[in-house]
Amino acid sequence: MNLQFTPEENTFREEVRAFLADKLPADIQRKVRFGQQLNAEEHVRWQNLLSERGWLAPGWPVEHGGTGWSPVEKHIFEEECAAAHAPTVVPFGVNMVAPVIIRFGSEEQKRHYLPRILGNDDWWCQGYSEPGAGSDLASLKTRAERDGDHYIVNGQKTWTTLGQHANMMFCLARTDPQAKKQAGISFLLIDMNTRGISVRPIITLDGAHEVNEVFLDNVRVPVANRVGEEGEGWTCAKFLLTHERTGIAGLGHAKQALRHLKSVARRQTHRGRPLIQAPSFREQIARSELELMALEVTNLRVLAAARDGGAPGAESSLLKIRGSELRQRLSDLTRRALGPQALPFFADFLAGDDDTLDDDQTFAAAATAQYLNRRKLSIYGGANEIQKNIVAKTILGM
Ligand SMILES: Cc1cc2nc3c(=O)[nH]c(=O)nc-3n(C[C@H](O)[C@H](O)[C@H](O)COP(=O)(O)OP(=O)(O)OC[C@H]3O[C@@H](n4cnc5c(N)ncnc54)[C@H](O)[C@@H]3O)c2cc1C
Repeated sequence: MNLQFTPEENTFREEVRAFLADKLPADIQRKVRFGQQLNAEEHVRWQNLLSERGWLAPGWPVEHGGTGWSPVEKHIFEEECAAAHAPTVVPFGVNMVAPVIIRFGSEEQKRHYLPRILGNDDWWCQGYSEPGAGSDLASLKTRAERDGDHYIVNGQKTWTTLGQHANMMFCLARTDPQAKKQAGISFLLIDMNTRGISVRPIITLDGAHEVNEVFLDNVRVPVANRVGEEGEGWTCAKFLLTHERTGIAGLGHAKQALRHLKSVARRQTHRGRPLIQAPSFREQIARSELELMALEVTNLRVLAAARDGGAPGAESSLLKIRGSELRQRLSDLTRRALGPQALPFFADFLAGDDDTLDDDQTFAAAATAQYLNRRKLSIYGGANEIQKNIVAKTILGM
């Protein structure tokens, strides 16, 4: 197994770097660098630039507009984007619903939705979780009852990320309440402007409006908007979740967070010398760096296997657990390195509307918000406890 990058892969890295240096808008880069929230226009502006370059949909087959990149090239691309403070692509359209439409959708659905996703014409959100259905997703209660050419959908979805911007939602709904849990579910594409849909914000601990509740009250959805057969939504749902976990280790982000932590620890003082020289803090940074190196090698091993024809399986659960724990620890160490300076955070700052702070103050203001925000990493995309169950079953055979 060869863990070195090939000369072609190194050339590709240079190409990505040059593109980012040339095209990433400075205002967007600054917001990402300081952990501020992007608005919808900023997300779309960046995604349009990727789309123009043909790089928005690395995971798609080439005939539909994909890049044809290998898993290693995708990894290099993600790593360089994180290092350059480029925004993460909003995944719900391009990385989640699109692969499902490509795999299970009708020709008509492919023709209609895929070009719109590549052109950033639709903003998608994910309607899976419900108040009583998260880890145990198959116990979802949202109902879709047939009425001629339509379904009438009633229920509630929750934790709907960026649903406030969405004009489309892919949604799991129960079409057969008599069938066994997983068997009675269908996968529906719902226009968020349909009468009967309301979106209510959930403000998270960091003061951000990132997630929502979505209420569906007698919402009429054309049967033509069902992907796959009636009652086969669970197959689509599982297929989509494997795509959701890809890249969730967030290695590029972890590396960036470590660089930032070191620069903070060099500037902060402790008993008259830089904090980075204090033995106990230095040891914690070193331990995190070693774990990050181990995670990177594991990630490269998984990628190398995929490059040689294997497919990442339960290893992606391992990467998700370790990557999310590490990113949480790095945000915790950064907050502690900043001490009392990390305490304040302001809604104006999060929105990027406060330009009175200098760079040091801005990083300090971001630290607490980021520490709180990173708690989500071990919950979404399948909680870490669930990933451990997967590892136990599929790798350890328990
Ligand atoms: C920031 C954020 C954004 C999200 N965005 C979306 C979105 O856009 N769309 C969407 O549909 N969902 C979204 N989610 C929901 C997410 O997928 C769920 O929160 C997640 O699946 C966990 O479900 P739950 O919150 O209901 O917790 P529960 O399933 O109730 O779990 C509670 C705790 O019990 C543990 N647990 C549960 N079952 C087991 C078990 N069998 N063995 C061991 N431990 C177990 C869990 O690990 C967790 O610690 C988001 C969540 C967050 C936090």
